[in-house]
Amino acid sequence: DCLLALESSCDETAAAICTLRGELIASRISSQIEIHRQYGGVVPEVASRNHILHARPLVQQVLADAGKTLGDMAAFAATSGPGLVSSLLIGTSMAKALAIAEDKPFIAVNHMEGHLLSPFMGENGPVRPCVALIVSGGHTMLVRVHGVGRYELLGRTRDDAAGEAFDKVAKMIGLPYPGGPEIDKLAARGNPEAFAFPRSFLDGRSLEFSFSGLKTAVLYELPRLDLKNEQVLADLCASVQAAIIEVLVEKLLLAAKQCGEKTLAVSGGVSCNRGLRAALAARSAKAGLQLLLARPDLCTDNAGMIAFAASQRFSTGHTSPLEADVDPNLSLVS
Ligand code: ATP
Ligand code: MG
Ligand code: FE
Repeated sequence: DCLLALESSCDETAAAICTLRGELIASRISSQIEIHRQYGGVVPEVASRNHILHARPLVQQVLADAGKTLGDMAAFAATSGPGLVSSLLIGTSMAKALAIAEDKPFIAVNHMEGHLLSPFMGENGPVRPCVALIVSGGHTMLVRVHGVGRYELLGRTRDDAAGEAFDKVAKMIGLPYPGGPEIDKLAARGNPEAFAFPRSFLDGRSLEFSFSGLKTAVLYELPRLDLKNEQVLADLCASVQAAIIEVLVEKLLLAAKQCGEKTLAVSGGVSCNRGLRAALAARSAKAGLQLLLARPDLCTDNAGMIAFAASQRFSTGHTSPLEADVDPNLSLVS
């Protein structure tokens, strides 16, 4: 009646158990953020070694949390891409081994489908047609969702992802990795109109994004600024955040309008951002659209969203062969 899922696409090792209907009953994450912080980013070798150390204890912990045994699981799922090959291999190998040992099916899950469907978890279900915005560390995508597994790409970024823009600007101004949450915190005390950073809308009807110009604009501003002055730093963060948010929100609303869709679903690590959540809530209410957001702890990488996506696939009869390979560039739309 349950399935167990593993996530190890990047620098978080995670395990979760949900019912076959997708109700999350246990979810644990072992973050490597502290380990990678000294390098200013994720080191693949270090990440994969830490996945090996944490995967097994995490599986034991979620089973204990849920009061279940391996024998209670109807299937075993893992993220098979996109991500770092050496990291993906740890989670998928473990899930396949468990599937063989328990003689149950294996389900390979696309990490981006995990993010995409996460706003439908819990009270927000069931999965239904919507226009979705995925804003994560490596992706910025607008997707039209017709149903589980039926996705149409409407637009994506031409250069940096939104999370990458947050992280790169944060690094430039000396904030610790990952920079998104740090900018979020400082922005709350700053003036978003202190600096007029560029909003790249490309041509008015485009659903593509571009964030590299923002990085350059901040770089040019830096020599003139005293970042030791707390208010200047907060103003800079608030202005950068406002520039990113405005483009994300307006393009999502434009996509909804173009598709004639009334439901919006926003996911990925950047959807934790309090400024973005507030702007989305205000804008969608004004436009009479329904907004679905994942719980903040389900926005950044976690296995709960992987378990949920697996449950949605499994309930339509989908399983994966044990030969299914990992794919660092796995695409959401074929
Ligand atoms: P992908 O899912 O594209 O493979 P990823 O798994 O690394 O990339 P996520 O875990 O979804 O990405 O999100 C991490 C990103 O979210 C980082 O860029 C981080 O800075 C950003 N992020 C997390 N919290 C916030 C926040 N409060 N405000 C802005 N950005 C945030
Ligand atoms: Mg991460
Ligand atoms: Fe992610």
